[in-house]
Amino acid sequence: MEVKMYNEPIFLEPVFQERIWGGQKLKTQFNYDIPFEQTGEAWVISAHPNGPSVIKNGPLAGKTLLDAWNDHGELFHKREDDDNAYPLLVKILDAADDLSVQVHPDDQFAREVEKVPYGKTECWYVLSAEEGAELILGHHAETQEELDEMINNGKWDQLLRRVPVKAGDFVYVPSGTVHAIGRGIVILEIQQSSDITYRVYDYERTDAAGNKRELHLERAKQVTMIPHQDIALDQTEHNKEGLEIKKLVEETYFSVYHWNLYGEASVTKDWDFLQVSVIAGEAKITVDGNDFEIEKGSHFIIPATVEEFKIFGNAELVVSHS
Ligand code: ZN
Repeated sequence: MEVKMYNEPIFLEPVFQERIWGGQKLKTQFNYDIPFEQTGEAWVISAHPNGPSVIKNGPLAGKTLLDAWNDHGELFHKREDDDNAYPLLVKILDAADDLSVQVHPDDQFAREVEKVPYGKTECWYVLSAEEGAELILGHHAETQEELDEMINNGKWDQLLRRVPVKAGDFVYVPSGTVHAIGRGIVILEIQQSSDITYRVYDYERTDAAGNKRELHLERAKQVTMIPHQDIALDQTEHNKEGLEIKKLVEETYFSVYHWNLYGEASVTKDWDFLQVSVIAGEAKITVDGNDFEIEKGSHFIIPATVEEFKIFGNAELVVSHS
């Protein structure tokens, strides 16, 4: 199929994942038709084989984003050296309970040890947080010996660094960072397209059959950054017609921005392809004279074949590119 002239946004259907810590907020806050009592994750822009999003419109309707990546690289300005894996994954997570404390490897460790293309650096935009909600980000060990000793002896209160959060906060989590999302928090996560997680601590929880989830302590100890370091983010803002753009992060694996739309703006391509998640309000996006309605909960890609578009309305968007 010839899709070189593809001139519309690629709208995507979320893929839901059941999790023991999941809840109902993907329905109550986003009106998604969720399939599980404990729905933890919506993979909203995914070409990951464990849950690729289905395309809703246009010449590739019914295909997955993974099919599009594999068969129509021109939509993503895919290069020969792209290792044949779509680079990013966008999710919404509803933490009705605490997530396990975990750490992810970097690309080198992922390739050498796990034989997968990517490690996992991730970032979180906090969509909502209940009063008193906290994350775990980093740890207090100064040396490998200290880290090993605190993990081996279960000194979690001493080891783990807790950070309070509220809606609108942004958290950058490079590979090697010990982290956990705490109960009462809903986040939009943009991450490298990887599923490799080393679980450090799971609060001694058991499933319905009485089984604990597996821990991966040896690998976790190997990949953890010691001592923990926070990365200073240069978060500048600028205005462009009816659009207020705040840069949240521009790092090796992804760039992420918060767009506050309060009118009209013309946007010209400055990326290979753009991932867009509407987190509040509604708007209209116009590509090549055709209008597309978007609203809170819409997720789409502006493909590499679209050079410019107009956007009009009152909405908040989180946009990202590799
Ligand atoms: Zn993680």
